[in-house]
Amino acid sequence: MLRLVKSSDSILSEQKNMIDTDDYYKQVERYAEQIRKTNSADEIIRILDIVLSETRGLRFSDEVFAAQEQVKRAELKIEALKDEIEQLRGLVHTDQMTGAFNRRGLDEIFKREAARADRNAQSLGVVLVDLDNFKQINDSLGHPYGDSVLINLVTVAKETLRPTDIVARFGGEEFVILLPDVEIEEALTIIHRLQNNLTKNTLLNVDNQLTSITFSAGVALRSFGEHQHSVISRADQALYQAKRTGKNRAIPALL
Ligand code: GH3
Ligand code: MG
Ligand code: MG
Repeated sequence: MLRLVKSSDSILSEQKNMIDTDDYYKQVERYAEQIRKTNSADEIIRILDIVLSETRGLRFSDEVFAAQEQVKRAELKIEALKDEIEQLRGLVHTDQMTGAFNRRGLDEIFKREAARADRNAQSLGVVLVDLDNFKQINDSLGHPYGDSVLINLVTVAKETLRPTDIVARFGGEEFVILLPDVEIEEALTIIHRLQNNLTKNTLLNVDNQLTSITFSAGVALRSFGEHQHSVISRADQALYQAKRTGKNRAIPALL
């Protein structure tokens, strides 16, 4: 990494680590150039972090010292810009209604988790979840109520799952759950626990019948090197079996 601070052989200790304004601006210009070249928010944030720490670490020469106030203002601006980029990045990857990751977020996280799994020779559980009879719930209790059911599912999932597990909205009332480093039996147990937690507090009166919110799930374990569409398609086939054989169940996927 390039340092803003010049190394100096000077015997005058106060001159050690000093920079002059030219060096400083040249260095900032180099960082600005790097920022212009990238289109990755992560990379921009990484560069801004370097600029911030370099700016804070400056030993001011007289000339730069006079500009301290300006540097402080620049620091605040960089902080604000970083916050803004982080917020925007979050929005791009999040489903606004439920707070789960959206498809884009899932794509990115799947790549990261798959790479980690391959690197550590670990499994990755990939679960496709689809709410049961959701159309009926919407029709009987209204679309806004249906929305609250989706929001509640994500809340209960986040409470039930481990902090390292991922919940993403795959489409309408379908969700993908990623469970790093699980075996199939463990994955099925986790999903059954989620089904129980969801059902526990949601008895509804639909069409004059008491019913509860349930979902069906297909549970696949990603094989080494397997792509997202392949493992999700296997989970989808298992989900189809779960629907076909009576719903409110989780079925392991075939290899
Ligand atoms: P199954 O048990 O076979 O899955 O039946 P289902 O009724 O759940 O499935 P179907 O695909 O027939 O209906 C899905 C419904 O989900 C239809 C659609 O209106 C509803 N839906 C999709 N997205 C949303 C949403 O954001 N909010 C609400 N309230 N409903 C949604
Ligand atoms: Mg569906
Ligand atoms: Mg459904």
